[in-house]
Amino acid sequence: MTAADRRSQLATARQEVQQRIARACTAAGRDPAEVTLVAITKTYPASDVLLLAELGITDVGENRDQEAAPKAAELVAAGARVRWHFVGQLQRNKARSVVRYADVVESVDSVRLATALDRAAAECRTAPLDVLVQISIDGDATRGGAVADVDDPDRGLWRVADAVAAAGALRLAGVMAVAPLDWEPDRAFATLSGLATRLTERHPGATVVSAGMSGDLEAAVRHGATHVRIGSSLLGMRNTLR
Ligand SMILES: *Cc1c(COP(=O)(O)O)cnc(C)c1O
Repeated sequence: MTAADRRSQLATARQEVQQRIARACTAAGRDPAEVTLVAITKTYPASDVLLLAELGITDVGENRDQEAAPKAAELVAAGARVRWHFVGQLQRNKARSVVRYADVVESVDSVRLATALDRAAAECRTAPLDVLVQISIDGDATRGGAVADVDDPDRGLWRVADAVAAAGALRLAGVMAVAPLDWEPDRAFATLSGLATRLTERHPGATVVSAGMSGDLEAAVRHGATHVRIGSSLLGMRNTLR
């Protein structure tokens, strides 16, 4: 496929996704300007990210540091500016790399990870790093996410949120979640919405709700998502399951 063909393919897909978001917002009585589209570009090349940036996409997400770091560098070299969201499980030893290019880390789910990111961000950033606390909606922490209403000192939701809020080099911006595979998306995002409300009561500035992917963005918008993370509907089906 030529670059021009890929560009028009991405332009069409982007328009379709924007229309889905707009229709979902209208149905929910919301303003589409309240919902930010984050293009999840994992497994796709930097050239696609550049095309998306030229089409007006402002926010891009990746889930592996070893893939995201060189892509972010390529975009800088090409003179393009996008906001990078890190959305994957993050090892503490990668914190130092991620804080160099990420504008937002959406997947902070332990006090220990928050501490590692704070230390790394304090060393090499001027602006604080935006952080979302990833929530495990079904409470199964083995698949990632902090857990509400368990007083686990490392993985308890309120412990993680308070640690991020207290960290000088981090800014607590809100929450992120993936709907559990075996839950109705509406039930999952309603649960998330309740926790997000409790978080803003405790930390009024933490208003971001990152929820919804290609298959369930409508349900997420219905339940107040401010950010939807869209991969396959924009870029095409991935060969690998991630
Ligand atoms: C891959 C991924 C997405 C996008 O998934 P699609 O179904 O391709 O839209 C969203 N969020 C996270 C955390 C992901 O890893």
